Amino acid sequence: METAFIDGSMGEGGGQILRTSLALSCITGKHLHIENIRAARRKPGLAKQHLSCVRAACQICDGHAEGATLGSMVLDFRPGHIRGGDFSFDIGSAGSASLVVQTVLPALFSADKPSTVTVKGGTHNPWAPPFDFLRETFLPAIATAGFQADCRLIKHGFFPAGGGKISFTIQPRQATPNEPIDLCKPLEKPDVRTRIYTARLPAHIAHRQEKLLCQSGLRIKNFEHVDVTDSDGPGNCIMLRICGNHRTIVSTAFGAKGKPSEKVVREVVNLTQAFLSSSAAADRFLADQLLIYMATSKTGSYTTNDLSTHLTTNIETIKKFLPVNFNIEQQNQIHRISCEPE
Ligand code: AMP
Repeated sequence: METAFIDGSMGEGGGQILRTSLALSCITGKHLHIENIRAARRKPGLAKQHLSCVRAACQICDGHAEGATLGSMVLDFRPGHIRGGDFSFDIGSAGSASLVVQTVLPALFSADKPSTVTVKGGTHNPWAPPFDFLRETFLPAIATAGFQADCRLIKHGFFPAGGGKISFTIQPRQATPNEPIDLCKPLEKPDVRTRIYTARLPAHIAHRQEKLLCQSGLRIKNFEHVDVTDSDGPGNCIMLRICGNHRTIVSTAFGAKGKPSEKVVREVVNLTQAFLSSSAAADRFLADQLLIYMATSKTGSYTTNDLSTHLTTNIETIKKFLPVNFNIEQQNQIHRISCEPE
């Protein structure tokens, strides 16, 4: 069995290096040896969410892991054969359920039969894709290249209480026609819609955030306030949904205890303005999450307004597993990322 040696401290030095490595180890059958896991994070090593990713990877391919303990910075993972089926994972903390899904999804698209994946944990966490982003931005983007999955939110889970639940149904990708990821055109005549979540918090928080958004200079088409009633703990996030030609980019900023609404609004408005003022097709988050799908097809291209270290680090990780090259071309204010066989 060929081995991929991964240094978890390279570039971004976060959990994505582990998740991408697990996914591609399952897909390629390569043995994974990773050291310095999450070395650049405040609490390095495997947290509960990452352990769940490792266990999930083991389950979907009858794999075997050594070093899968809390805080571990070294892991050995030997994959078996990917098999479709019904899987349930419980992170046991507010760790992001989306990121566990991000680990198993690429492999389950190449399974022999459809799968369902249910994950208990956080559904709306800072530093991770919120459920709405997966449903409205990410899944439709990969569906254009034949990766078909549906998702459902069963219960909301905001950081830090967690306790949410999401479920995904994944279809094996059909061998033909295999359309490449081709997301280079900007959203046409985009409009901006707002969704503000509050859970176990007074409604005036959302009203004030709405007022601040009205003063932000952005032309906002409509406002939606979701007062979440099934959450174990408090939570607040503002989403600006940029919609055009059947595509949506969901930009999110999270409220937190002691964080003024002015700051939350500024964060989400800045993200949205940066995307809108470019002619890119993918925002900085979608851009790093598309790479693995482009790489497993060995072809495709897309444009983004922001070349993040998540993106450049993910490229380096992917190249340790797959014989592909990525090109990054700067075109005015945007970057065009493309992939081709080595
Ligand atoms: P890491 O920091 O290495 O654990 O990776 C975090 C992952 O979460 C990356 O794939 C990011 O693109 C993604 N992510 C973080 N924040 C957001 C957000 N607000 N919306 C969508 N995806 C996000």
